[in-house]
Amino acid sequence: MIIQRTIKLRLRPTPEQASILTQAIQAYTDSFNQVSAYGWTHKVFNGIELHKATYRTQRELFALPSQLAISARMKATEALVSVKALLRKGKKAHQPQSLRCPIRYDQRSYGLWFDRSEVSLLTLQGRLRITFTIAKHYQQYKTWQRCSADVIQDRKGRWWLHVVMSKDIQEIPPNDTDDSFVGVDLGIVNPAADSRGQFYGSEHWEEVERKHAVLRSELQSKGTRSAKRKLKRTSGRQRRFRRDCDHVLSKRLVQTMESGQTLVFENLTDIRGRVKLKKAQRKRLHKWSFAQLQTFVEYKAQAVGVSVVFVDPRYTSQKCSQCKHVSRSNRPEQSVFKCRVCKFTCHADHNAAINIRANYLQFKGLSVNQPIVATQGDISFG
Ligand SMILES: [Zn+2]
Repeated sequence: MIIQRTIKLRLRPTPEQASILTQAIQAYTDSFNQVSAYGWTHKVFNGIELHKATYRTQRELFALPSQLAISARMKATEALVSVKALLRKGKKAHQPQSLRCPIRYDQRSYGLWFDRSEVSLLTLQGRLRITFTIAKHYQQYKTWQRCSADVIQDRKGRWWLHVVMSKDIQEIPPNDTDDSFVGVDLGIVNPAADSRGQFYGSEHWEEVERKHAVLRSELQSKGTRSAKRKLKRTSGRQRRFRRDCDHVLSKRLVQTMESGQTLVFENLTDIRGRVKLKKAQRKRLHKWSFAQLQTFVEYKAQAVGVSVVFVDPRYTSQKCSQCKHVSRSNRPEQSVFKCRVCKFTCHADHNAAINIRANYLQFKGLSVNQPIVATQGDISFG
């Protein structure tokens, strides 16, 4: 199975290089618009016909190198085809037009060297060598195979290369043995805990979150224009902070797994679980999204042959994982689980993670031979 990931490289062109890129994007956009205008007017949606009708003009009029002329035509063809599909469905559609069309490069029209942080991009002035920087969480894809790439300039004027990387991974059927399933509880004191008794994330995150929340409510009550501006900046920072945390957490979690093993989460986005969802969201920090974390985990797990499954959130925090007694009063304090019947004591998130795992095994009809993991020292009877 071939899987693909898009990585974003921040290009650092010199001012001179930036103006060459700007010129290339302009010519590419003009070319895109010209092909799409031709296709729209003459009702031509076929790539070969469009090529025949527009190629020469594009090369002469916009001075595009052949590979970029073809790329612009292909992009315009795609846009025309989707417009045609809309029209067929009886929907409104307009001639595809772009103000700033990102340049699509194929494997031959660009080069990429991670070892010297450099890309080479085809332009109207020949090939341009530009240095780039790469975010930490994309480093893991360096060994994958590069496919197409898009050059984009964002609203702030920054240049990016979005590169599609691919990898052929061996499909590994999930194991059915007892130790191949790991339950994960997403909590508040500890951002995540698993059924083996491992905890993930930092308690410091909660403090950062709380500071963000305090600042937000202060700014909201002020209501001045400058406060609103600041609020916008703050929420951007908050969003990035959460995303970074979710990246760190998902990476660590997946690193502890082996191919063929399965991660079990509570299904917190299920419709039937709506009510439960609200509660669970509250339980985590200020509505910190589960969805993003779970997406990151699925993404990373897939690349290493680890399965991710979801199970109904049922009594996971109130049930004793050892004797199965369910009671609200099993939780003397938020982080401690103490069973009123069998006196089993354990970190509350760990107990919940064991239940999540057991719920899934039960759902699958596998034996729920729950091993007590006591290596972390947070479990005791008495
Ligand atoms: Zn018990």
